[in-house]
Amino acid sequence: MPQATKYDAIVIGAGQAGPSLASRLTQTGKTVAFVERHLFGGTCVNTGCTPTKAMVASAYAAHVARRAAEYGVNLSGPITVDIKAVNARRDAIVAKSRTGVEGWLRNNQKITVLTGTASFESPTTVRVGDDLLEAPQIFLNVGGRATIPDFPGVHDVPFLDNTSLLALDILPKHLVIVGGSYIGIEFGQIYRRFGSEVTIIEKGPRLVYREDEDVSAAVLEILQGEGINVRLNAECITLAPHEHGVEVGVTCAEGEEPSTVGSHVLLAVGRTPNTQDLGLDKAGVLTDKHGYVLVDDQLRTNVEGIYALGDCNGKGAFTHTAYNDYEIVAANLLDNDPRRVSDRIPCYAMFMDPPLARIGLTEAEVRATGKPALIATRPMTRVNRALEKGESLGFMKVLVDADTKKILGASLFGVGCDEAIHCLLDTMYAGAPYTTVLRAVHIHPTVSELIPTLLGDLKPLE
Ligand SMILES: Cc1cc2nc3c(=O)[nH]c(=O)nc-3n(C[C@H](O)[C@H](O)[C@H](O)COP(=O)(O)OP(=O)(O)OC[C@H]3O[C@@H](n4cnc5c(N)ncnc54)[C@H](O)[C@@H]3O)c2cc1C
Repeated sequence: MPQATKYDAIVIGAGQAGPSLASRLTQTGKTVAFVERHLFGGTCVNTGCTPTKAMVASAYAAHVARRAAEYGVNLSGPITVDIKAVNARRDAIVAKSRTGVEGWLRNNQKITVLTGTASFESPTTVRVGDDLLEAPQIFLNVGGRATIPDFPGVHDVPFLDNTSLLALDILPKHLVIVGGSYIGIEFGQIYRRFGSEVTIIEKGPRLVYREDEDVSAAVLEILQGEGINVRLNAECITLAPHEHGVEVGVTCAEGEEPSTVGSHVLLAVGRTPNTQDLGLDKAGVLTDKHGYVLVDDQLRTNVEGIYALGDCNGKGAFTHTAYNDYEIVAANLLDNDPRRVSDRIPCYAMFMDPPLARIGLTEAEVRATGKPALIATRPMTRVNRALEKGESLGFMKVLVDADTKKILGASLFGVGCDEAIHCLLDTMYAGAPYTTVLRAVHIHPTVSELIPTLLGDLKPLE
């Protein structure tokens, strides 16, 4: 057994929490061993948020170009997309971000960067290849990967996930996407706008099933309006090789179209934490049945000195939640500030066009509480800025506690809503009643300007 090299801390995974935490630790004089096995910046930078949002921008440009005549702009000839140029633009943005993170870590004299897969040998020692590292504090930021479902035939076909789809430098003739939730929908709209035929197959009765039914219905209408085929209630999904690509079986019921054939198939059915090869058993760290590391409200695992941050703890599935995990751990360990995960208000967006922005509770969740509440909705056709932009699809909905007047949640689905929603979110963080926003004067003409007006329409939730 080689002698272990001693550090004050070991950070495993260069995702959205690890690098910032390592940097913070060194500012207090600690030495840190930092282990990353693949790409610095993790999922968000390399195969998640950054590349997809760069592609959303290209897809939007194509979409607006096709609608140019509606704005009085003349473009001659058909609008086509050069996927290699799209990918090159995207990859340049990604590379800048990735090298920025890597350089930041490598240039820190107190951080020793190791490349390789880390796994525990004991609660205080970690192996990376031939190197043995030892520290009293170990921070896991190992993230997750696309779930490979056990559909019959899945291993007989060349399926894609979010990583391999991004590596594709041709436009799929027909992209079949299994999974009608956030990732599947973003990719579906992107590739449809690039010119592919797209079919989204969802086993449930509606898209984005975590959202309210009116949101699911509006998403469906917009996607179908762009010519995306959507197959819901696909309760019997199978995959098989086909001469033109992959045949995806969707139903076992008689009398229905049994399958669709795609040139390419993307599986977008969820995420799995990267905890299976960490040797957690050797450290005694517990996980739930899905492999998520069990943590308390301050992100401590059951083993003293070991913490889990980001997607691998199952408490969030976003870049902002992973980064907030870093803030919580740093505040508790270094600032004597007892920040907690439960202080966090749920918020996220689905970056289809228009974006769906969500905070707090859905209408269904508010109803389930049984408490008196107020609700207001407003179609984007009644938002002047949206009309001026020619982008008036979607609607805004907000829910308020009838007794305390505090905002309970909102679904803002429309142009600019990914930004506009923050005035409601920050009011929730301030613990202020909705009347604070109701009386605020917002800039004209913006989407945010209509949020006080929306709140002025609150009615009892029946
Ligand atoms: C297609 C897609 C689009 C997305 N879009 C958005 C979005 O718009 N907004 C948003 O907020 N979120 C988005 N997400 C989610 C977001 O990417 C993740 O929530 C975020 O990256 C989680 O960060 P993390 O720090 O937990 O881990 P990750 O970013 O996954 O990083 C984990 C790192 O750990 C490394 N690692 C794993 N195991 C080991 C080991 N044993 N040894 C050494 N290194 C290891 C990995 O190589 C990786 O670099 C998207 C995700 C996908 C897939």
